[in-house]
Amino acid sequence: MSENKYPGTSGLAFKEALLWERSRAGRLAISIPEQDVPKSDLDPNLVGDAPDLPELSEVDVVRHYTRLSTWNYGVDTGTYPLGSCTMKYNPKVNEQAAALPGFTELHPLAPESSIQGALKLMYELERDLLEITGMHAASLQPSAGAQGELTGILMIHAYHAHKGKQRHKIIMPSTAHGTNPASAALCGYKPVPVELSKDGIVTPDAIRAIMDDDTAGIMITNPNTLGIFESHIAEIAQIIHEKGGLVYGDGANMNALMGYVDIEKTGIDVMHLNMHKTFSTPHGGGGPGAGPVVARDILEPFLPVPRVKKDGDRYTLVSDAPLSVGRLHAFYGNFAILVRALAYTRTLGKDLKDVTEQAVLNANYIKANLKDVYNLPFPQPSMHECIFNDGIQHRSGVTTMDIAKRLIDLGYHPPTVYFPLVVDGAIMIEPTETESKDDLDGFIDAMKTIAEEVKANPDEVKNSPHNTTISRPDEVQAARKLILKGQKA
Ligand SMILES: *Cc1c(COP(=O)(O)O)cnc(C)c1O
Repeated sequence: MSENKYPGTSGLAFKEALLWERSRAGRLAISIPEQDVPKSDLDPNLVGDAPDLPELSEVDVVRHYTRLSTWNYGVDTGTYPLGSCTMKYNPKVNEQAAALPGFTELHPLAPESSIQGALKLMYELERDLLEITGMHAASLQPSAGAQGELTGILMIHAYHAHKGKQRHKIIMPSTAHGTNPASAALCGYKPVPVELSKDGIVTPDAIRAIMDDDTAGIMITNPNTLGIFESHIAEIAQIIHEKGGLVYGDGANMNALMGYVDIEKTGIDVMHLNMHKTFSTPHGGGGPGAGPVVARDILEPFLPVPRVKKDGDRYTLVSDAPLSVGRLHAFYGNFAILVRALAYTRTLGKDLKDVTEQAVLNANYIKANLKDVYNLPFPQPSMHECIFNDGIQHRSGVTTMDIAKRLIDLGYHPPTVYFPLVVDGAIMIEPTETESKDDLDGFIDAMKTIAEEVKANPDEVKNSPHNTTISRPDEVQAARKLILKGQKA
């Protein structure tokens, strides 16, 4: 095996001292010329104790943080097959658009007459999202997918309230994304589970058996978190609608549908889209996102305010909507994310359809190439992601976690593991549309190498990663005993 076969990240091998360990008394980052005024001691009662800070030179600090920055693994470093997250490469032209001074220097309280361009951008992005989904009206306000869900369920709640009778339950397949039950519960709805078919999808019969007039509707992720298309979606929506319910569609997986599925025709009433997944904004570090919602006409009156309206060639923000669920936060959302999204939809245009094709093709390429070495709980073709588990490797005592850790040695960010919960020891791979065949082949090769190692020397895999500074941190302790302040050596 050639030494450079796997990309690796040399940064992971760095050892780095804490700033306190590097501190030397009296060392400074600046030199100030000697003063020509008499020294005057400050009143210690006013100053208090000197802050306990490390004393360092400029180069000490620059090197420390630059080295730490190389410990990161991102989509600009390599393949990042984190299922359910769409960690795709984001074209830099979107960043250039978002960095234009006309956008970055915009003040959110500026008068409408001076922000016509920004309002136009929001209006046009809404039009694009409506064209892509076939839906009727949109709001760009929600700052994340989960906030989009909350918005949609608040709208469903407001709809039932307006009809004069609130309902108390909502149907929630186990293949919904984990944020779905939380969003429903925040609105006071009790999530009701529904049985899946052998193929991992929801069936009309299962819905018919539980849908009643105390059920507000269903929250359905499509493709679901198994990466499988809910092919009965239209019939399911019909059953829900006949009993007066509404359908929330989780559209975070839109990169598996764009250009192919008319959401309006599937019977979905309201749906969120993740700008920071499908529409190409970097994410994953808890940074800002945007989760616009698109809705059918019957739900338009309940959309959040303010809304951008076009009046002749003027754009205005309109808050006069008596049935609206109100504002979700100050101002209009994470605006720079919206700039990136519009740059993305406009640079691709009709080619957004190719995104879908590549995303689905790439996932199925991985599925086909690894199906003989890793267990596939759902062997039918996938949409944009595929799920294996450790069924085969477990016989040698090697688990999903071990496989994920070994991938780090081979230079890959591990896939999502142990999610979705419906699959034991799940290994959830979403390659995304931006990986080339070469990069997919590299990842497949690494996964096959690990499967071989499990046969020949399972301990090698169980004790991995070997190439990193820290091998296996106690993940529970790291979450329970956060150390946010540096500690003195
Ligand atoms: C990521 C994701 C969400 C949540 O989006 P956030 O922006 O992380 O809040 C919801 N549903 C699905 C299917 C997702 O993949």
